[in-house]
Amino acid sequence: MAARIIDGKAMAQDLRAKIADAAAALTRTTGIVPGLAVVLVGNDPASEVYVRTKSKAVVDAGMRSFDHKLAAETPEAELIALVGRLNADPAVHGILVQLPLPPPIDATRVLNTIDPGKDVDGFHPVNAGRLATGLPALVPCTPLGCVRLAKAAHPALAGMEAVVIGRSNIVGKPLAQLLLAENCTVTIAHSRTRDLPAVCRRADLLFAAVGRPEMVRGGWIKPGATVIDVGINRVAGEAGKTRLVGDVAFAEARQVAGAITPVPGGVGPMTIACVILNTLRAACAALGVAAPDL
Ligand code: NAD
Repeated sequence: MAARIIDGKAMAQDLRAKIADAAAALTRTTGIVPGLAVVLVGNDPASEVYVRTKSKAVVDAGMRSFDHKLAAETPEAELIALVGRLNADPAVHGILVQLPLPPPIDATRVLNTIDPGKDVDGFHPVNAGRLATGLPALVPCTPLGCVRLAKAAHPALAGMEAVVIGRSNIVGKPLAQLLLAENCTVTIAHSRTRDLPAVCRRADLLFAAVGRPEMVRGGWIKPGATVIDVGINRVAGEAGKTRLVGDVAFAEARQVAGAITPVPGGVGPMTIACVILNTLRAACAALGVAAPDL
């Protein structure tokens, strides 16, 4: 039987509606509108699309979006000075610096200047450390979305074998931390992993965050497993057009898995919803109000 499709688009819409209600309630009680500052440096077309999508999601949720578009040749010191002003601005509850940053800007140096309380991407070492040690933290949005998608198939993840392919600071590592916090038995696989198909076949929950089109084949999947595909890869399609595919060979995987996310329409929309969720959480923390359990 073909796997159940986990509809990330519908789940994201539902979550965004709940966030909008919670943001409206926060504004009613405190008079404060949550605000997200999005900083884009340069003209990378994919980044421009992401930034527009995030800003629109923020406005749709009844929050304020402060967009800062800087030229590709902006000196690093100028970008860091902007982050400093946003850190000090009480109307800004979340700050998001879109990656990648054009060279020679050092992304780590820039991200480390963001106030950890406003770090809605959760990339600051303070938030990474808090996540790793089980303290409350702003957690990276894509991993947050991945866990919510997995829970759509299995509300209780405790005891499950989870395999995460990819060990980036943005997806793989924080995702593994979240799964550990859910009491999964977690394996992180990566480019040096021996016999990756055999490692994947152990997984009740398989997360692919590699950036290699359709690398995970149907035969790598344990029958009935839940597959969450983080990859976004643009490949040649028909009639000279391009199309998006994930890191999982979807048609094959669907015949073996129990549940699977599509690309597009899986992890991507949930990532955007979690950006506004983190903005709401950051605003609540700044105002000393308990964040709603969404
Ligand atoms: P990255 O390049 O930083 O990390 C990729 C990881 O894959 C590395 O840890 C590497 O060890 C591993 N890897 C590479 N080749 C491998 C191989 N042959 N076998 C096993 N592991 C291998 O990428 P990232 O930022 O973590 O993103 C991964 C993918 O997820 C990309 O396609 C990216 O576009 C996508 N992504 C999607 C979203 C979303 O919202 N849907 C968000 C972030 C990233």
